[in-house]
Amino acid sequence: MMHPIDRTKLFTDVEAFCQEIRPHEELCYVEHRYNDQVIPLARKHDLLAIPVPVEYGGRGADTVTYARALVRIGREGTGVRTFFSGHTSIGEYPIATYGNEEQKRHYLPAAAHGECILAFGLTEPDAGSNPLEMTSTYSREGDHFRLDGVKYLISNGGICDAVVTFAYPRGDDGQKLPGSRISAFIVDRGAGFVSEDLTAKMGMPTSNTAMFEMSGCRVPVGNMLGEEGAGFRIAMGTLVSGRLSVASGCLGVIEDSLTECLTYARERHQHGKPIGKHQLVQEHLAAMEQARLVSDCVLMRAAEAKDAAQEAPTNADLRNRADMLAAQAKLFITNAAWDAVDRAVQIYGGRGWSTLYRVGRHLMDVRVCRIYEGTDEVLKLKIAAGLLGKEFEAYR
Ligand SMILES: Cc1cc2nc3c(=O)[nH]c(=O)nc-3n(C[C@H](O)[C@H](O)[C@H](O)COP(=O)(O)OP(=O)(O)OC[C@H]3O[C@@H](n4cnc5c(N)ncnc54)[C@H](O)[C@@H]3O)c2cc1C
Repeated sequence: MMHPIDRTKLFTDVEAFCQEIRPHEELCYVEHRYNDQVIPLARKHDLLAIPVPVEYGGRGADTVTYARALVRIGREGTGVRTFFSGHTSIGEYPIATYGNEEQKRHYLPAAAHGECILAFGLTEPDAGSNPLEMTSTYSREGDHFRLDGVKYLISNGGICDAVVTFAYPRGDDGQKLPGSRISAFIVDRGAGFVSEDLTAKMGMPTSNTAMFEMSGCRVPVGNMLGEEGAGFRIAMGTLVSGRLSVASGCLGVIEDSLTECLTYARERHQHGKPIGKHQLVQEHLAAMEQARLVSDCVLMRAAEAKDAAQEAPTNADLRNRADMLAAQAKLFITNAAWDAVDRAVQIYGGRGWSTLYRVGRHLMDVRVCRIYEGTDEVLKLKIAAGLLGKEFEAYR
């Protein structure tokens, strides 16, 4: 059953969360440590399942509304927004979209209440841009599956209680069965996976990134997500949601950088006047405003396409259109954000090149957005193949 969402209340809650998280985020960033207040504050303001249907404990937001919420959260930093991407956009989303009733009832309300933090584990040390090269495997052992493999660079991987992950069926030689297809699983931490935080990152010190090893993980047969062999379709469908979340967060980064720069350009004086009166500084501000405006339009177009596709789940044309627009939005807005924060740092001069200022932190963090959830290169190939036709897919 559809419940109308109270957008005013949602955005009030998002704003309250953002204001409360800011001092924690700034302190953690400077101290180079994980921000352990994101989850409690998100739980306090009921933001742990914004697009999840109300009957499963969420707030039932459509894609456009959720994107707007992530734009606001993105202003607080890519690390904060990345938590929501990992937990909600690529954690809750595949369970809500591809899970059966039992899986939804078991995981989603707990995720919404912060009792089950989620992650999405697709990438492996030797399988990034091409997940089909993964080597994780599973085999059936009575009422369980046995999962083995290593997942790498997983957002929330060290703090999650369960992960949506992927593996090939195992052949008699212990390797993936030739010609087989990937399946998806929901794996509880209690099933026996061991994670290790990855902290040698160029940015996002406040966000958790980890690798984890599944060595004989015992996963109940009821935790296979979707039908056997549907893992790749589930992963690619989930990435549409994930890409929109990254694009939304990057728009927030552009907005925040612009706000900061407008204040700074008015206050900072050089050569006898505010730097905002120097025409070359104005050129940076105009370019940032253009990036903000166009990114907003591109994001909304893509989010609307996703809503249209969700309303007609059997319509392949709408699904493909949503997929393509999410890829375009992600590619465009992550690059627009990278350019905008570079300009913002330039406007701040020497102070900009510092983690003590918001623009410097944005610069360090936003760079990864051109890598995760589909690199620039992979997205360009995808967009071109969408124009030329499937037979031109260069990444197969
Ligand atoms: C902070 C962080 C968080 C992450 N979070 C998650 C997560 O939550 N879950 C998850 O599953 N993964 C996550 N990732 C992994 C991320 O999705 C991968 O890093 C990304 O997909 C790229 O894979 P790779 O790093 O193995 O690079 P590679 O695939 O090795 O690519 C290296 C370079 O080669 C290029 N390249 C590869 N193939 C082609 C081709 N056919 N044509 C042209 N160029 C090509 C790439 O574009 C890239 O420039 C995260 C990564 C980071 C850094």
